[in-house]
Amino acid sequence: MLNEKMRELGCNRSTIRELFEFGKKLKSEIGDENVFDFSLGNPSVPPPAELAEKIDFILKNTDETFLHGYTSAEGDRAVRQRIADYITEAFGAVSSPDYIYLTAGAAAALTSVLGAITNPGESVVVIAPYFPEYKVFIERGGASIKPVMAKATDFCPDINALAEAINDKTAAIIINSPNNPTGAVYTEESITALTDMLREKEKELNKVIYLISDEPYRELVYGGVTVPYLTKYYDDTIVTYSYSKSLSIPGERIGYVFVSPIADNADLVFRAVCGAGRALGYVCAPSLLQRLIGELQGKTSDIEIYDSNRRILLDALTEYGYEVIKPRGAFYLFVKSMAESAKEFSEAAKEFGLLLVPSDDFGCGGYVRIAYCQSPEMIKRSLPKFKELADKFKT
Ligand code: PLP
Repeated sequence: MLNEKMRELGCNRSTIRELFEFGKKLKSEIGDENVFDFSLGNPSVPPPAELAEKIDFILKNTDETFLHGYTSAEGDRAVRQRIADYITEAFGAVSSPDYIYLTAGAAAALTSVLGAITNPGESVVVIAPYFPEYKVFIERGGASIKPVMAKATDFCPDINALAEAINDKTAAIIINSPNNPTGAVYTEESITALTDMLREKEKELNKVIYLISDEPYRELVYGGVTVPYLTKYYDDTIVTYSYSKSLSIPGERIGYVFVSPIADNADLVFRAVCGAGRALGYVCAPSLLQRLIGELQGKTSDIEIYDSNRRILLDALTEYGYEVIKPRGAFYLFVKSMAESAKEFSEAAKEFGLLLVPSDDFGCGGYVRIAYCQSPEMIKRSLPKFKELADKFKT
């Protein structure tokens, strides 16, 4: 008999994927140049030049059977050491290879962590709007998702609302800064308020509440913004990281889980993460990619291009009358819908060839998401279409 939940997940594509597929069809009908697909967060900037050089170096200098063989389940020890060293050097955080588990991207990192620290009947708090796959990953293990709206003024966490949502069933809270879909980067003030509140809650409820910091966009910040390293603010932190966006390699699948060594029961949490990865059949992260990222710590694609896209779109959209909160990171603009509902606005945008994701799947209505990880040339050509769309809604 089919598993109903899995059948449903497989049959119903996410709105983002639906829009992406629609875009491909539309391109074949009206021509590529008339479709402005802002649906997917697929990096448009090429990987750094060192990436190809390092692959070449690794292929030429590593024994083939070793290179393509299984690594230990946690990942290659030398690579984990390099990551741990980088975490300490770059962020001044306590780190050790013993608490780093290499994964096939942040998605596998999140499912391993959630598998390790949640049980049926427990809940995981997320800040809405949120990455829609959180719901899928949380519910897979039998826990439930508890969304709490961010502050509408800056999309930073609403501490009082979060405090109200946390109870003795709360296993963890997931935060994502720089944020998908809003582009918000949580200030240090906001992180301090959040972690102070979580510590209070741990005391009051006499239980551990893990803070999962999901960081695939860590390096994608603009205008000198810094992203606080969470393990320095809250002991019970688990970081899920990915190289998908920073190195523009989302299809290659590589990332990691880092359990803070000072977290409550860190050793057992780490073993449970390995156990969850085992139960999910992950075996080990792709071995060539493991070696590759070992050589590329601290390197990124040229994010200057995203910053330029961000400024072009932000200036133009503001001028045309759109309501946008200036994003400080990631590569998304979250724009207020000019129609009654986000879906209606997204549908209206299609008439102009603009593919904008309605916010409902992100756990909040009333906005559309624009993924500006596109070519600067396409962004510039899209501007008159954004103007026409805004004009349609002007009274
Ligand atoms: N978390 C967030 C917030 C994301 O936006 C994404 C991908 O877009 C992921 C996790 C998954 O990333 P990965 O490609 O590393 O699995």
